[in-house]
Amino acid sequence: MKKESLLATLGCCDERYEGVVNLPPHRASTILFNGLDEFEKADSGQHPRASYGRYGTPSTRSLEHALAQIGDADHAIVTSSGLSAIVTSLMAFLQAGDHLLMVDSTYAPSRRFCKNVLSRFGVEVTYYDPLIGSDIAKLMKDNTRVVFVESPGSLTFEVQDIPAIAKVAHSKGAMVIGDMTWGTLLYQKPFDLGVDVIVHSATKYIAGHSDLVMGLILFNDAHHENLVKTYRNMGACPAADNCYLAMRGLRTMALRIKHQYESTMKVAQWMKARPEIEEVLYPALPGSPGHELWKRDFSGACSLFAVAFKPIPHEAMRAFIDSLQLFGLGYSWGGFESLMTTFKTDNIRSASKWPYEGPGLRIHIGLEHTDDIIADLEHGFKQMKKQKAA
Ligand SMILES: *Cc1c(COP(=O)(O)O)cnc(C)c1O
Repeated sequence: MKKESLLATLGCCDERYEGVVNLPPHRASTILFNGLDEFEKADSGQHPRASYGRYGTPSTRSLEHALAQIGDADHAIVTSSGLSAIVTSLMAFLQAGDHLLMVDSTYAPSRRFCKNVLSRFGVEVTYYDPLIGSDIAKLMKDNTRVVFVESPGSLTFEVQDIPAIAKVAHSKGAMVIGDMTWGTLLYQKPFDLGVDVIVHSATKYIAGHSDLVMGLILFNDAHHENLVKTYRNMGACPAADNCYLAMRGLRTMALRIKHQYESTMKVAQWMKARPEIEEVLYPALPGSPGHELWKRDFSGACSLFAVAFKPIPHEAMRAFIDSLQLFGLGYSWGGFESLMTTFKTDNIRSASKWPYEGPGLRIHIGLEHTDDIIADLEHGFKQMKKQKAA
């Protein structure tokens, strides 16, 4: 079946609920056992069904089952946030004395986890240029256990040559963990590119409505024991109501993403022609940095991109952003609404550099009509011009 059909059918119509189409949320801490034999079996890990709310319920299992199929994986684990999916995967495969190669353009909280936590536990971290390709070989050490990729990069949207990086990593006995949120579950096949474990923020398009935080880990049989054990030890389970909402998000995910992709392409093209803009960082846009690799490795794009402004006074940027009606100023993306965040890369890059003189702006395009979005941006640019002239 095609992904659209899977999204519309998985986890539906459970016989236990008299044919009710949606599985209800199973809010649970206690789960009762049928007698001492069953209880003792669960204690030794042999019991097939849930034994305690933290270790999974029908809500988490049905969602995991659906996500594994949609993500072409043997297994899925849902976690309390995208960050906890990243943390759980790194904790599963690293130990004191190991070396981690972390992409320089990674999501800033992933970088903070490396800096503030992993370093305290004796894991050495080296940040590498996202565009390094097969030259990653020069940074591999005997104790390099994990190469972490994220493509395109957070904020700066560099497209990585994952097959080239994975080939080197595997030849030296390291594994590849990839934050693959931008490609959604629909437009990229990370396992085919050489990623061993996929982490994903379900907060974005899976939830789709800016009302929950959740993470996802996708993997095949070889990594099952390690990841499940670590997950159980970390205690990072999602709430039942969030699983219910995530499942509901899946029903319309393909439609939303497709529509937002089309809208984003229109807005990105329009932005590219603006005199205020130095560069549009949307790999799907012809002429954008990384477009050739994007064509090779993706079959579509999501609705998140960035622009590099030509140098402007800070007051002009404030006039632009504060005059917009349709764009909220706030974190996250993948929801129904358009958003923006300004960014600086000074504190979160050490192996690569923002190559533009002007400031960066990250833009998320929601489900509003593109005529209105573009009119809003045009109004913003007018206010910016007024401010500059003043
Ligand atoms: C949002 C995001 C995360 C973190 O997800 P949360 O669910 O907010 O914890 C990780 N990686 C990327 C690329 C993200 O955009």
